[in-house]
Amino acid sequence: MSETKDLPNDNFILPFQVGNTSVRGKTVRLGSVVNEILTRHAFPDPLSMLLGEASALVTMLGASLKFDGKLIFQAQGDGPVSMIVADYTAGGALRATASFRGDKHDIIKKARGPELHYLLAKGHMVMTIDQGPEMERYQGVTPLEGPTLEVATVNYFKQSEQIPTAIRLAVGRLSAPGEEPQWRAGGIMVQFMPGEGGTRERGEAELLREDDEEVWNNAAALLNTAGPDELLDPMLDAQDLLYRLYHENGVRAFEPMPVSFGCTCTREKVIRVLDQFTEQERDDMTEDGKIRVECEFCREPYVFDA
Ligand SMILES: [Zn+2]
Repeated sequence: MSETKDLPNDNFILPFQVGNTSVRGKTVRLGSVVNEILTRHAFPDPLSMLLGEASALVTMLGASLKFDGKLIFQAQGDGPVSMIVADYTAGGALRATASFRGDKHDIIKKARGPELHYLLAKGHMVMTIDQGPEMERYQGVTPLEGPTLEVATVNYFKQSEQIPTAIRLAVGRLSAPGEEPQWRAGGIMVQFMPGEGGTRERGEAELLREDDEEVWNNAAALLNTAGPDELLDPMLDAQDLLYRLYHENGVRAFEPMPVSFGCTCTREKVIRVLDQFTEQERDDMTEDGKIRVECEFCREPYVFDA
């Protein structure tokens, strides 16, 4: 470790570089932020876990946004879960939601964990980078391939962007003595990014040279030894984890970036949506003279007089 920094205890992303190579990475720790997201939704556990993984994923990917903007991860499928969405806004605001087919609640509960293939089945994943009205929106789409979100993400980067990627994600409920169990999520990823070293441009990241290939294979193999306990343990410092994995090559951690729970819904936005309904539709939504709407991302209730 070339330098040490005071890290926040939780809810942060730590970007890093392995040795003097083109291997760049990020690790993320989510405590109260992901607990708040998952507790508000109260989905069946396997879906909560998958959404927690998606939250850790989008946070690590979004941390690369260089300007104001938003990274949106979306997966759609024809399984019991129809959609999961997680988005990260530059500056660190994270939110996430999912929708499932109402009659499939019990089927979701039968999953042994965040089994992507079981929960979403056939479908696709979409990454959208939205950098505001001035900039062109970037969107990558690939079929959902793999039993887990980790495998599907590696496939996404291989097919859509030709970037070698290795990733580990973990979600679980941990409890401190005498406390209610709290959701936590963690992740770590590395990518081979020669463009960032100035020698080659992004998109030409294929492994061209033999020594590149060796550097990459070594970094990916080490990353894949990171276990869920190491990614979730609040007592294991993120820098210590990096050191455990990459002490042979040396590893340099950059500035940590804070993550917070943040939804962009407002009363005004909800009114604008309601304005688009017909009078009949609004009548149908009225109960006891009130229209009650809930933000699907954060479950915040909005109540209006009819
Ligand atoms: Zn909201």
